[in-house]
Amino acid sequence: MAITQAMWIHGNSIKVEYGDRIKSIWRAGFYARIVGKPGTTNWFHFSIPTTVIVSDKRQMIDSVMLRFKSGSNKARVTNIDIYDGEWLIASHSNLGLNPAGFGLERFNVPGKPEIFWGVGISIGVSFTGTTDAQNTIEFSAAGCDFSLFESVRLHFKVLTTPTVSLDQMLASMREVYEPIGFRVVRMSDETLNLPSLNTVDVGSCVRGSTTAEQNTLFGNRNNVGANDIVVYFVEATNPPYNGCAAHPNGQPGAVVASGATRWTMGHEVGHVLGLSHVSNNDRLMTGNGTSNITNPPPDLISSEITTIRNSTLTVNP
Ligand SMILES: [Zn+2]
Repeated sequence: MAITQAMWIHGNSIKVEYGDRIKSIWRAGFYARIVGKPGTTNWFHFSIPTTVIVSDKRQMIDSVMLRFKSGSNKARVTNIDIYDGEWLIASHSNLGLNPAGFGLERFNVPGKPEIFWGVGISIGVSFTGTTDAQNTIEFSAAGCDFSLFESVRLHFKVLTTPTVSLDQMLASMREVYEPIGFRVVRMSDETLNLPSLNTVDVGSCVRGSTTAEQNTLFGNRNNVGANDIVVYFVEATNPPYNGCAAHPNGQPGAVVASGATRWTMGHEVGHVLGLSHVSNNDRLMTGNGTSNITNPPPDLISSEITTIRNSTLTVNP
């Protein structure tokens, strides 16, 4: 899953829940130093600035992080509760953390839920020492990692079954797209009996320009939502290509020829999602033919990931 945002807030913003249970709090440029009264427990709270929507997509929370140190093993972080607004979304208890130096502790949020209201981190601390030095804890920062996981929804419409199976093309596409945060969903399969379009005229296969045959073929959108992508598996294109992603406006899709490689479908869908060719055979969008990919699985780079994320054809969840 791709981390889309890492948000942090400085330790001196910390809030104390039970003020009468602390001996002192000193907020400085570098941290907040709290001395707890002996034999008390307390809660301390951080509010993390939270961007819940990015590029029209709702973010998910991955984990939270805390940077702190204890004066001794008598000032221990025992609990980390993570909230989204009033909803408790993760609870870590019986922790007993007392690092002697500032380090980074990470706490997962199981299930990586979507985030709606803003993240709060509540830190339970127990103070069991007898001296101020023992009961001291210092917080320098708290943070949160967010991610987006979106879906690309595909419908397969088959005029001719390709040599590389649909399952294999789908698996190969997933190898490229899923590690960077895009789920590839096979929404439906349909067999189309359209012999006259089985070798489909794709003209010069330029984005935004389609032939009469492409227009007819792409008109077949049974069971297909407006933001879903159709892959038409044909015997061949004319002129012969492995595939072609030119499609009529409002009918997103691509054709894939029967001799296509296992990377062709992911490449053509990449075009539909807004990607252009590059001259690098380590990358999915190589313009030199996917049969020449040198380092499988091929890469999508961060600017391409941003383009895909910004496409109206990638959707939550
Ligand atoms: Zn291409």
